[in-house]
Amino acid sequence: MVKMIAVKEAQNKILNMGKMVGTAKVPILDSLGLVLAEDIMSDDDIPVYDNSAMDGFAVRAEDTKGAEQSHPVRLNIMGKDIAAGKMPEQDIEQGCCVPIMTGAPIPGNCTAVVMKEDTKITDSKTLIYKQCEKGENIRYRGEDIKKGDKVLKKGKKIYPADIGVLASLGKDLVPAYKPPVVGIISTGDEVVSIDSKLEAGRVRDSNSYSLAAQLKEMGITYFRYGIVKDRKRFMEEKIREGLSQCNILLLSGGVSVGDYDYVKDTLLGLGAELVFWKVNQKPGKPLLFLTYGDRLVFGLPGNPVSVMVCFEMYVRPLIKKIMGDSELFRPTIRARAAHDFKHKGDRTNFARVILAQKEDGCYFSSTGMQGSGILTSMAKADGIAVFDETEAGNIKKGREAEVYLLKTPGRIQCSCR
Ligand code: AMP
Ligand code: MG
Repeated sequence: MVKMIAVKEAQNKILNMGKMVGTAKVPILDSLGLVLAEDIMSDDDIPVYDNSAMDGFAVRAEDTKGAEQSHPVRLNIMGKDIAAGKMPEQDIEQGCCVPIMTGAPIPGNCTAVVMKEDTKITDSKTLIYKQCEKGENIRYRGEDIKKGDKVLKKGKKIYPADIGVLASLGKDLVPAYKPPVVGIISTGDEVVSIDSKLEAGRVRDSNSYSLAAQLKEMGITYFRYGIVKDRKRFMEEKIREGLSQCNILLLSGGVSVGDYDYVKDTLLGLGAELVFWKVNQKPGKPLLFLTYGDRLVFGLPGNPVSVMVCFEMYVRPLIKKIMGDSELFRPTIRARAAHDFKHKGDRTNFARVILAQKEDGCYFSSTGMQGSGILTSMAKADGIAVFDETEAGNIKKGREAEVYLLKTPGRIQCSCR
């Protein structure tokens, strides 16, 4: 008899195996969503010159003293206007101003820029309708980033704004932790490709698509190795191929106790080492996890919901860890049951739920039939509510539970969080 382990224990065993795959200098845009493997220092002051934050007139702030709508100050226009990318021809003299565009360098002696909207040109003079403070509308050299600053820290996840910062620092290659490459194999004599006509006894291969989509959502490179029949010989071939190309291999189906469930024995026969088989949970009880050298192999129970839930609760956190991410799990919220839920107190139950914000807080309700073959129960879900084995029995209406958020808030109100 194989000992069934608890969800937390299974998660710990898996995460303990999560070692970095290595680091790489990645083209800047490909680094989005990865984690920095080094501190990013600046070689420059940013901006590298004092410049105008507005289209308007460069002035000496003291020359605008007392200017207001009913009493404009008159300043002489001096020299050519300064466009972005041009250098000023001369310093500003007392009582003078020069037209300047956003991003253009500030001329000498100039201590402020008056917005165009607060000026009017008459003859060769400019009427200034607003008194300026020193420094107004000037962006000073190094005010954003100073040369030598540590701008982004090692271990930081890269978001779109970081890409912008990296670009402004001139980093076309970004040092990041390499994400793992993941292989997907579907098993089952009844499983057919998605372009096949459905007949009695046939099931279209949805698992390799939902898994590929879950990986794609994470920005992970994957290979789909197709469908393999429930024959050890065929399985061996595909598994070998997958192990030679991938850091993590995901097999779906064939891990239960059926007469044709050969995945575990095939892997053991190839020399893989068993870490655990069977977790005290629903769905996904026959979850299998093995190592093969530095490769990690999941045998995911074939039911379409089990596959996706096991990916969320076990595979995704492992990939996140390997990528150096500090947030391994989906964000969670505490929410209350909108109705009674069936729950056997002896195992963890992952319920697919819809979230709704009510006046007195956030509530979850069932997506409908919860069978592990009901894939639409997953498609409707905003999140996965966890009723663990410490819960004595059915979950009564109003009871609080932790809900893992599968979708970014939108319909799920932010106030839930
Ligand atoms: P198994 O884990 O092999 O016993 O399969 C459990 C259930 O999942 C069976 O009803 C299978 O037909 C179904 N199943 C297995 N593999 C797939 C797949 N790739 N896509 C959709 N359903 C599958
Ligand atoms: Mg099968």
